[in-house]
Amino acid sequence: MRFKKLLAVSCVAAALQLTATVNAQELGLDVNYDPAVPTLDELLGYPAGSRISSPDAIQSYFEAIAEKYPTQVKLINYGKTWEDRDLFFVALSNAQNMQNFEQYQQGIQKLSAADKTSNTEAQQLIKSLPASVWLSYGVHGNEISSPEAAMLTAYHLLAATDAKTKSYLDNTIVFIDPMQNPDGRARFVSRYYMTTGIQHSADRNSAEHNEPWPSGRSNHYLFDLNRDWLALTQPEISGQVDALLKNMPLVFVDLHEMGGDTSYYFTPEADPYNPLITPKQRETLWAIGENNGRWFDERGYDYFTREIFDAFYPGYGASWPLYHGSISMTYEMASARGHVFRTKDGEILTYGDGVQRHFVASMSTIESVSQQREQLLSNFWNYRKQGIALGKDSKQRTYLFSGKDDAAAAQKLAGLLTRHGVEVHQAQESFKVCGVDYPAGSFWVDSAQPAHYMVRTMLDKNIAMDDDFLAEQERRRANNLPDEIYDVTAWSLPLMFNIDYQTCNRVPSADSQVASRDLIKPGKVVNKDAKVAFIVPWGDMNAGRFLTTAVQAGYTVKRADMAFKHKNGTTYPAGSLIVTTAENPDIHAAVEHLAEATGATIYGVDSSWVTEGPNFGSNNTQRIHAPNILMLWDEPVSSLNAGHTRFVIEQQFGYPVTAMRAQNMARADLSHYQVLIMPAVYGNLANSLGDNGKANLTEWVERGGVLITLGNATQWAVDSELLSSALEKVITKDPQGHGNEKRVDGMVFESKAQLMHYITPDSADPYWTSGVLTNLDVDQEHWLSAGVKPNLVSVTVGNQIYRPLSIENGRNIVSYSEDVLASGYLWAENQKQLQYKPYLMWQPRQKGMVISFTQEPTYRAYLDGLNVLLLNAIFGGAAHATPLR
Ligand SMILES: [Zn+2]
Repeated sequence: MRFKKLLAVSCVAAALQLTATVNAQELGLDVNYDPAVPTLDELLGYPAGSRISSPDAIQSYFEAIAEKYPTQVKLINYGKTWEDRDLFFVALSNAQNMQNFEQYQQGIQKLSAADKTSNTEAQQLIKSLPASVWLSYGVHGNEISSPEAAMLTAYHLLAATDAKTKSYLDNTIVFIDPMQNPDGRARFVSRYYMTTGIQHSADRNSAEHNEPWPSGRSNHYLFDLNRDWLALTQPEISGQVDALLKNMPLVFVDLHEMGGDTSYYFTPEADPYNPLITPKQRETLWAIGENNGRWFDERGYDYFTREIFDAFYPGYGASWPLYHGSISMTYEMASARGHVFRTKDGEILTYGDGVQRHFVASMSTIESVSQQREQLLSNFWNYRKQGIALGKDSKQRTYLFSGKDDAAAAQKLAGLLTRHGVEVHQAQESFKVCGVDYPAGSFWVDSAQPAHYMVRTMLDKNIAMDDDFLAEQERRRANNLPDEIYDVTAWSLPLMFNIDYQTCNRVPSADSQVASRDLIKPGKVVNKDAKVAFIVPWGDMNAGRFLTTAVQAGYTVKRADMAFKHKNGTTYPAGSLIVTTAENPDIHAAVEHLAEATGATIYGVDSSWVTEGPNFGSNNTQRIHAPNILMLWDEPVSSLNAGHTRFVIEQQFGYPVTAMRAQNMARADLSHYQVLIMPAVYGNLANSLGDNGKANLTEWVERGGVLITLGNATQWAVDSELLSSALEKVITKDPQGHGNEKRVDGMVFESKAQLMHYITPDSADPYWTSGVLTNLDVDQEHWLSAGVKPNLVSVTVGNQIYRPLSIENGRNIVSYSEDVLASGYLWAENQKQLQYKPYLMWQPRQKGMVISFTQEPTYRAYLDGLNVLLLNAIFGGAAHATPLR
């Protein structure tokens, strides 16, 4: 049994490394612990910090303490991950506060409802309610130390016998969400321990310190959950938002890890701050940071503030609660990304170091909250009061959207805003306000509500960055230094959903109801006994869901490439779907269910007579075959774009995708796939596919396959001569002709600007942008744009700008508008260079075709306004290619 002996040896080796473990007594907190409270060692079989706990272990720890201390710990589930793991948090305080937990929830709701609660009532609540702090750990599954610190924090709060710790719980409820991303953590932990040897390696070249694709950072659908707080598409975040709205903690901390060669980061944040964050909030952030600094000083821990991590984008966990009046922030610890890591200074950073610091930061924050109980409650109330007052005075008091241009998107926006804790009204009758007529069913949001700042963050077209900050970025750029913009500078939901909305300084007087949180409203059938056919007008996600559901159920669905006018006088837009009763004799039994499930309005017709545009049997109507969709996966594909795209197609369109590793392309039989999606890449796709992979793919396209490239995968199509476009360099007025000559003519620089120009490489790429919203124009005369509005909005990130296709090669279906910028901050020369350049190109290749998006239409799964275009590419493309046989 050599193997067994080896295991025994490695256990000893592991035990030798327990020097890295954390023990609260060693933290210098100078407290005694109640021996009746089980330690992590007693519950899990190893001391804190000696092992990277699995999600199961962490859950079992919290279940155990909730069971043993029911008067002090309440464990609450808020959902399930895609891989069926539990999402939960605990509320922890002294027995008296926990006995009154429901009263706390009711009280904080009253304090939130600054439109309904009287000032007298509020003052009583401010005097009597406990404070609350919510600590969220491990949103990125490979940022490993914070969930361990969550257990240590809970242990310390329960077991410490000193007066100071007890005093925190006298007036504070501590919410602990120990693991926001258990699927990602499970991936990390399982792979990490697979790679370990007889000793843990501190070497950054070791397999231990190099995660394979996809890393544990993301969740099952490979989302960065810390960017999902706007669209709430993932259960880990949408469930947490529901729980936060119910419990409204006054302070929220998201505890992360960063690169191992750093120290520890906490508030105050780097510039720029979102202008909707109030001076009072910034004051409190500063005070919490200063208290953390004191705790860190006492222990000699390094830290930094005011650098790198800014507070501009509201879609982070550390930002979202700010717009409800809470104080929220991110903490970041240098990651050992394993048990041990050798830093660039040669020091050994341990897993235990991370656990220890996150534990200390958790405790110092709890102390701040406890000490500022009354101030925090009072600030929260004043914030929400102030929001109402600001809304009342605003010229943009109400935001109105009728949904006439896209009923599915309007419903989703109303449901999503409701899920963000915003009150949305739906008119029960038609009305007119600010000179515009609105039909019954239209939505409005009155910004004179306690969630005023959330309303503005989500709905304002543009949130301006600080002028001084922008001037500094332009100065840096002019000096060949990178800019300091951390993430996208634009995120307006109505723009991203591409729905028309107006603002008005008044509130409509129409009869209304508060909108529900439903993202899809059940559709209806008109003339359900139709004799000849059912028609679904194309152009929104309701129709999209109808299409994917109907073809998967085996119905024969036809699609008109052009608009047509039926004998009954109705004109249906291009792309409209036709389900004839002759081809689908059992459709009557299913049609009502289809309308309800998909949201589509389905019109039955008793005649096929069309007076304008193509008839049902015309060559301009295509039969939609349920295509088999293949998508490239694994290295060198971008895990984010692959995940976003798979999620949009599977969960939003309701259609399956087969994910295939890029390396399999060379030998894969592609003949039973009609559509192949190539997500954006971060490595060299040509190398991964190899010559054989490229040949296989090219042959498949020419035999009738539809290749859809997203973002920078379009560059591969260009390089492979499948797409006759080209990638542009930066605009240079007069190239400098840097040669390799070692002896050159003398030259004179007349100015600093000339020098800067000279040292810029001749063939540089255009300047990089972190992300803005851009305007697009749509060529309406093609099946790819059927049912698509003439103007769209997309996120543009990076620096890829392509040349348009010439008309003998294909068509530029969607192009950047002359007025490129819709929202955010984009360098002037990029705006100029992007004008009229292609966003979506289509090039036929023998029996098949290439459809290329120059950006990612599935970016963060929040560009709902581009969904119809993507549906057209997939289903219209497959219908228009000559079927593979
Ligand atoms: Zn992180």
